[in-house]
Amino acid sequence: MPKPSAQAFVPFVSVENMMRLVHQVGVEQILRDLANYIEEDFRRWELFDKTPRVASHSDVGVIELMPTSDGESYGFKYVNGHPKNTSEGLQTVTAFGLLADVYTGYPVLLSEMTLLTALRTAATSALVAKHLAPKGADTMAMIGNGAQSEFQTTAMKAIVGIKSVRLYDVDPEATKKCARNLEDSGLKVVICSSPEEAILGAQILTTCTADKQCATILTDNMVGAGVHINAIGGDCPGKTELARDILTRSTIFVEYPPQTRVEGEIQQLDDNHDVIEFWEVLTGAKQGRKDEREITLFDSVGFAIEDFSALRYVRDKVRGSDLCEPLDMLADPDDPRDLFGMLHRAKA
Ligand code: NAD
Repeated sequence: MPKPSAQAFVPFVSVENMMRLVHQVGVEQILRDLANYIEEDFRRWELFDKTPRVASHSDVGVIELMPTSDGESYGFKYVNGHPKNTSEGLQTVTAFGLLADVYTGYPVLLSEMTLLTALRTAATSALVAKHLAPKGADTMAMIGNGAQSEFQTTAMKAIVGIKSVRLYDVDPEATKKCARNLEDSGLKVVICSSPEEAILGAQILTTCTADKQCATILTDNMVGAGVHINAIGGDCPGKTELARDILTRSTIFVEYPPQTRVEGEIQQLDDNHDVIEFWEVLTGAKQGRKDEREITLFDSVGFAIEDFSALRYVRDKVRGSDLCEPLDMLADPDDPRDLFGMLHRAKA
């Protein structure tokens, strides 16, 4: 049975409307909602089309396309990563994305995804930490206090229940900004002057720095037994954050191994080094944390299914509301074969 005719106007969610959506729902609630959508899709992981993202590298950054499909909907995100951008007054990461109907191939949503990426990355981090962090984890170190940091922190509060965050950045202005933005969050915020100070007493160590090099944000001797590491910033070939020795002491959880082996912390290890795909922890196929002394590491690079889940959530929330505007981006001739005629008549 053919479906009803596809829409010619594509609902578009601007940055302004994304901010309205977040405020209508509430930041903590939207993070919990996104984590639920992501969990739902991770549980049906096997039915998705999966491919490592398509990356175009330059000396200063990377531009990537991230496609996937569940057979009913198709989604992709355009995203960049340019660590030098902040010094020029631009963001390191910007993004937009699209969801389409597999049956017609017509787009059903176009959305800003700079904010949405920060939200979905944070929701994924917290979903993973909920399953892997030691019981009763209440303190997080947040190393790298840039654009993602408040989202990461707020998600750990909303989903894992942390009560305190210890901030460190090489740029004290970034830390001040982060502390200011978290003032009313209900979290105890501690400003630290070194990464060593930041990790004191923390059970969750988040690294979220941006530098186009193999950096050592955490050295081996900084990581004690039983912590959970949430490594966000190493997400490109030649761009990592952790000393290699930490990896060999940790149980490593990843999104999609063919992408993470190229982009993640594990690019420092042999291709056959054992890793666990996080979706298998959710379905119960693999065990998460085994004991209180184990070091668990989420080697996050960001995978297309998380963006698909986020777009799916936004589509469900904005449908029929004033949070989207109709975008005239599909040619729609009365006779589908008369595209030229439509153009011709437009002249009149
Ligand atoms: P940003 O440029 O806004 O912030 C990065 C911060 O890191 C800056 O404040 C900078 O001063 C700090 N920094 C750099 N080197 C440091 C060091 N050695 N020690 C401490 N702080 C240091 O970038 P952002 O948007 O917050 O993104 C951070 C990183 O996360 C980027 O590398 C980005 O590519 C990555 N990211 C990953 C995902 C994912 O899904 N895994 C998603 C989004 C962004």
